[in-house]
Amino acid sequence: MTALYHCPKCGATIPADRPIWRCACGSHLNLAPGPGLARGDIAGADASLWRYRRAVALDGPPQVSLGEGWTPLVIRDWAGTSVHFKLESQMPTGSFKDRGTAVMLNHLIEVGVGPIHEDSSGNAGSSIASYAAAAGLRCRIYVPVTAPRGKIVQIAASGAEVRAIPGTRQAVTDAALAAVGDSFYASHNWHPFFIEGTKTLAYELWEQLGFRVPDNILVPTGYGSNILGLDRGFDELQRRGEIEKEPRLFAVQAENCAALAAAWAAGAEDFVPFTPVATAADGIATVKPVRTAEVLAALRRSKGGVAAVPEAEIAPALRALGRLGLFVEPTAATAGAALSRLLRDGTIGPGETTVVMLTGHGLKATDKIAELLAV
Ligand SMILES: [Zn+2]
Repeated sequence: MTALYHCPKCGATIPADRPIWRCACGSHLNLAPGPGLARGDIAGADASLWRYRRAVALDGPPQVSLGEGWTPLVIRDWAGTSVHFKLESQMPTGSFKDRGTAVMLNHLIEVGVGPIHEDSSGNAGSSIASYAAAAGLRCRIYVPVTAPRGKIVQIAASGAEVRAIPGTRQAVTDAALAAVGDSFYASHNWHPFFIEGTKTLAYELWEQLGFRVPDNILVPTGYGSNILGLDRGFDELQRRGEIEKEPRLFAVQAENCAALAAAWAAGAEDFVPFTPVATAADGIATVKPVRTAEVLAALRRSKGGVAAVPEAEIAPALRALGRLGLFVEPTAATAGAALSRLLRDGTIGPGETTVVMLTGHGLKATDKIAELLAV
């Protein structure tokens, strides 16, 4: 059965059987809720996210996979509390993006796209470039000139064309938008099927915790694809009667560039203007999230919130994670800093089950980590 897109602005309903990335009215699109998953639907022999393929809105089996998903969930001690760390940093290209990319690319192959392009602060670019290479699709990635060198090298190694754009992150997006028409804009921030992929994270945490949901999940958040994916996945599990409640979702942002924190503090339901400043957490330095209203609604529904991390707390968190054997990029380290804050102020209790998402591998950003840790 063909999935349906819904436009939150003009109300249009469009079958998801064609290569589009937004509505004709200019708004982003969202996928209507899927049928969800019962535990008997899991293809348990498949050690990847495709063990949940019955709940993923594709017409056929995946045509390209690099073995994404089914990442480790390890328990470590953090400030005297037992915490689950979800190592999305161990995906094929070293970041959580592969979950969304794999599903989005397989959908785009099903609906017949040719060459693609995308703009990214680095991780989504290297993910999409790698999957495009695996699928034999021509690919061009627009990145900020200030993106970590490791990510730019990773994109180039896949054979994709790299366009390094000076100026703000918005300038990079504008360059990608100007290329619409030359090739398909496979934007992880716009395309609904990217979130269809990240929803498998909810299924995976639920299964890895013995078919239980945790109390809290902390997620480094820029555009919010993991928050939206978790919300979608847990909502589907609840509709199927597999779970009774959803976990509290906490979006973690760098205080220097915190669009969601600004809106949250203002009690707003959508974007409010704020002044961004540079941050070491380049992967979540998002000036204008596409789905701000949806992310805020998901956080409210979950009874979670937004945690904004001061810049000075990122390096100590990165060091503390490293001392646990968890080598992550500065963006992912914000989650450790936020965990310390939420434990300290009592928002999270020591007896609760808490999952901390480690979204990107440290090897992607050794230049920035060397600066932060002065090594
Ligand atoms: Zn519309």
